[in-house]
Amino acid sequence: MRRSLIVDTHASSCFFRTSVGDGERKALVQITERCNLHCAHCFVSSTRTGVDISLDAFAEVVLPRLREAGVERITVTGGEPFVHPDLVAICRAVNDVGISVGI
Ligand code: SF4
Repeated sequence: MRRSLIVDTHASSCFFRTSVGDGERKALVQITERCNLHCAHCFVSSTRTGVDISLDAFAEVVLPRLREAGVERITVTGGEPFVHPDLVAICRAVNDVGISVGI
């Protein structure tokens, strides 16, 4: 059963407005610091320069640790995740281990 994002006492959602069921966990993974835009409100101060996580590091280190931690949903973020050259492969790796993925 999915939890409501808004309850009587507070709005329980994070900025990315995704939710998981009771006892489940979610994670936001910043796969790149880079972004092709430069919004004044950017809370990660992204620019055109920055570091990307490698596909190998994501698939061999980050993803196994998130599985071990019981994460059921991953939101891939940045920066701008679409500037990462391996975005599709990263999403496929998440999907292949049975975790729900969003961008
Ligand atoms: S990461 Fe998002 S908020 Fe930040 S500059 Fe890029 S588009 Fe704007």
